[in-house]
Amino acid sequence: MKSYTEELWFQTAKRYEFIDITDRVEGALAASGVREGLVLVNAMHITASVFINDNESGLHADFLDWLEKMAPHEPVSAYRHNVGEDNADAHLKRQIFGREVVVAITEGRLHFGPWERIFYGEFDGRRRKRVLVKIIGE
Ligand code: ZN
Repeated sequence: MKSYTEELWFQTAKRYEFIDITDRVEGALAASGVREGLVLVNAMHITASVFINDNESGLHADFLDWLEKMAPHEPVSAYRHNVGEDNADAHLKRQIFGREVVVAITEGRLHFGPWERIFYGEFDGRRRKRVLVKIIGE
């Protein structure tokens, strides 16, 4: 069995951002040489997510609006977590959008359904953060 590990680094300009990382995961897959197996992609920070959905700007705006309704940033003082920090909403947003995805690898390619792309979801950005890519197979 082969195994391959890579960390992808991000520093977003904004507090909230969605970044399509599919090409970078495909790059890791190519470097791994794995033809049949699984890839795990997970955010390494508790205020960021990795998720799979459509790469469509209206949908991404809808995601952000919906997340803001579920876990509004303001008022910051409404959260018990926000003692000396202001990112309680980011922890909650990450719980909603999840920590990781697993994608099957078939014949050397990510085995997606229609329109599926992998995204990094940043909810407390403007600092350096990482995503782990772990590939196993043969
Ligand atoms: Zn926090």
